[in-house]
Amino acid sequence: MKTLVLDQGYVPVKVIAWHRALCMSLIEKVEVLASYDREVRTVTRSFQAPAVVRLLGTIRARPQLVRFSRRNVYLRDNHRCQYCQKIFTDAELTLDHVVPRVSGGKTSWTNVVAACGSCNRRKGGRTPEQAGLALRTPPKRPQWSPLSVAQRLPEHDLPELWRDWIFSNTG
Ligand SMILES: [Zn+2]
Repeated sequence: MKTLVLDQGYVPVKVIAWHRALCMSLIEKVEVLASYDREVRTVTRSFQAPAVVRLLGTIRARPQLVRFSRRNVYLRDNHRCQYCQKIFTDAELTLDHVVPRVSGGKTSWTNVVAACGSCNRRKGGRTPEQAGLALRTPPKRPQWSPLSVAQRLPEHDLPELWRDWIFSNTG
């Protein structure tokens, strides 16, 4: 379970683990605006896991950088194979190292793209030029935050309790 964090002006800023949010509420760094039904027990007390919290005081939430992961690369590339430009499902996509690992290519935002299985096989351990494949745009670190990752997820993947806060702020 994850907790949506809002700033003092009720604008979503980030997503954190629920137990961190609970600790922050116990030391009154945040106020809990909505809780999940599930209870969390300690020896003496039971708590409900926070679903949405708002920062109190003068703490400024620093926007988090989006983590490099398979899922986030697919999201960045809109599930489009960066070589043939067709759209595929998660299961059909692969991660392709533009500069192959054997040639010192890194596993990073700027060297990894989504590719379909057939383009990836065709490319093999070569650069796009060597394989006669064109990369439309050079891969970059996405500018969105983990929160906008949540916004890109299908609506049914979002906790029900977050919806009011996320969608009211995007108009
Ligand atoms: Zn392809």
